[in-house]
Amino acid sequence: MTTPPALAAAPHQLHTSPEHPDLLELARHLQPAERQRLQQIEEFAQGRIRPESIEPWNQEELPRHLLEEAGELGLGEVFVDGSSHLFQGLAHAALARADVSISAVVGIHNELIVGTIDSLGSEQHKREWLPGLRSLRQLGAFCLTEPEHGSDVAGGLTTSATQQADGQWHIQGAKRWIGLGTVADVALVWARDTADAQIKGFLVPTSTPGYQAQKISQKTGLRIMQNADITLDVLVPETALMPGASSFAAAGEGLRGSRAWVGWQAVGAQQALLDISRSYARSRQQFGKPLASFQMIQTALAKVAGNLAVSTALMGELSRLQSEEKLTMMRASLAKATLTRLARESAALARETLGGNGILSTHEAAKVAGDIEAIYTYEGSHGINLLIAGRDLTGVSAFV
Ligand SMILES: Cc1cc2nc3c(=O)[nH]c(=O)nc-3n(C[C@H](O)[C@H](O)[C@H](O)COP(=O)(O)OP(=O)(O)OC[C@H]3O[C@@H](n4cnc5c(N)ncnc54)[C@H](O)[C@@H]3O)c2cc1C
Repeated sequence: MTTPPALAAAPHQLHTSPEHPDLLELARHLQPAERQRLQQIEEFAQGRIRPESIEPWNQEELPRHLLEEAGELGLGEVFVDGSSHLFQGLAHAALARADVSISAVVGIHNELIVGTIDSLGSEQHKREWLPGLRSLRQLGAFCLTEPEHGSDVAGGLTTSATQQADGQWHIQGAKRWIGLGTVADVALVWARDTADAQIKGFLVPTSTPGYQAQKISQKTGLRIMQNADITLDVLVPETALMPGASSFAAAGEGLRGSRAWVGWQAVGAQQALLDISRSYARSRQQFGKPLASFQMIQTALAKVAGNLAVSTALMGELSRLQSEEKLTMMRASLAKATLTRLARESAALARETLGGNGILSTHEAAKVAGDIEAIYTYEGSHGINLLIAGRDLTGVSAFV
């Protein structure tokens, strides 16, 4: 056996591995055109996003140029361009394998911004916003969570929308954790109509006077994502209300799909962990031998690969259910909760393989581990997603 040379522990070191991480070869189920498109996306993700996101992650900056290039590959519209569910999932996993923040931005953009406007917006909304959004030249922010209402936002949401005598809406309130809140062109704001107490969806251009966003800094995960605290005291035209978004059930529809998509993020993140830890274990020498030759290191790698295989299999099956329109909230929540839990375990195993380098944010293992903590909590916390599944299993709600 030839031993690869040891890698110096240099900052920004990439530990690329030639092996493809699709352990179950799910891509073989794609039509040839989608398979080819996926390959282009994987090349872009590994060749550009992966190396060019490490420094922005450390600096908490958004590498906007990468989003524009992702737009040129059609990544801003995979949700609405007729792509198969399996292709969409594998494309999101390919992005997450390169950088979880970029996959979060692109995933939320597809599922919760472009998807919501396409299904719930008026013809005018679609004409005005979709061309720029689909190409990723424009960005949207999904504004649901509030400072005082996270898990209980459906019942507790306090941002208000009051229709004036002239038809305009006065939207007032505060939002927290809003991805791209400081850089988006349009905010999709969920607010409670003071007339009928229903939660409704509005499109608010972020240039509207009274929209203010303050970046949330010092995050330990998804540092590229530009989350923000937002305050709203805006007047928008009558037409800002999305005709299909006149109750919280409309937001729930989108959240179901996006919870399933977070499962694909967990797949991609674990592919990255396998890439990084396997490559490091082969190149780093201790006791005169590569780490990869030690049983405990191989056991750790095999556990990560096992978690990845289980995650991939579940998401492949879920995409099949999605194509048959059988994606229930129970299935989406169970997948999101289970796969982010497995990813968390994989992150601990993989970062340990790198020893001290596993806790340096300039190395990729720690970056991915931090990102996994964030995806474990967003799109509904791990606990709440388990309780949604528990409610379905028992017929009793343990949380509302
Ligand atoms: C990086 C990141 C990006 C995000 N992006 C967005 C975005 O773009 N748009 C948006 O609207 N939101 C966004 N969020 C918000 C996210 O969806 C919320 O953080 C999440 O829903 C949890 O809400 P919370 O943080 O207020 O926690 P809390 O609701 O305060 O919960 C705290 C803890 O208590 C537990 N808990 C709460 N209630 C119960 C109960 N009844 N029973 C048992 N346990 C319970 C939870 O599981 C959790 O562990 C983002 C969050 C993060 C971290």
